Amino acid sequence: MARNRRSTDQERYLLLKGMLRERRREVQEKLRSLRETLPVEAAVVRDSEEQSVDDFVTEVDMALMQMKSETLSKIDQAIARLEDGSYGLCQECDGEISAARLKALPFAHLCRACQEEAESTLRAAREAKAFARLQKELAHVTLRTPTGRR
Ligand SMILES: [Zn+2]
Repeated sequence: MARNRRSTDQERYLLLKGMLRERRREVQEKLRSLRETLPVEAAVVRDSEEQSVDDFVTEVDMALMQMKSETLSKIDQAIARLEDGSYGLCQECDGEISAARLKALPFAHLCRACQEEAESTLRAAREAKAFARLQKELAHVTLRTPTGRR
């Protein structure tokens, strides 16, 4: 029986590894095409509206690229965990990540509970950051208001 179990594990391992590799290739492909579409230089003089649309597109592309890079490193980490045998275990609480969750998110490194916890922490941090930025902008506006005139 032990032998059977080992070969099932081996199969699952190979299957997962193949899938992760495949996903990795896809993401890398997308990253490459994104890099190619990014404007290299803005030597041409354009009106400001056009410029800001371009800026926006670049910003979106950058965000997308960052997301892709993050996905890539998650995939790499999942492959590393497969190799050291910790795949499928929550990195936070060492609990087992449910099979359904792994099926939907093959490179999940947290169980659902820990993920939710992490997300709410992240959300709180983002909100705090957004608020700080807003405060800074408001301070800036106040600074630029001409003084001494009423
Ligand atoms: Zn957990």
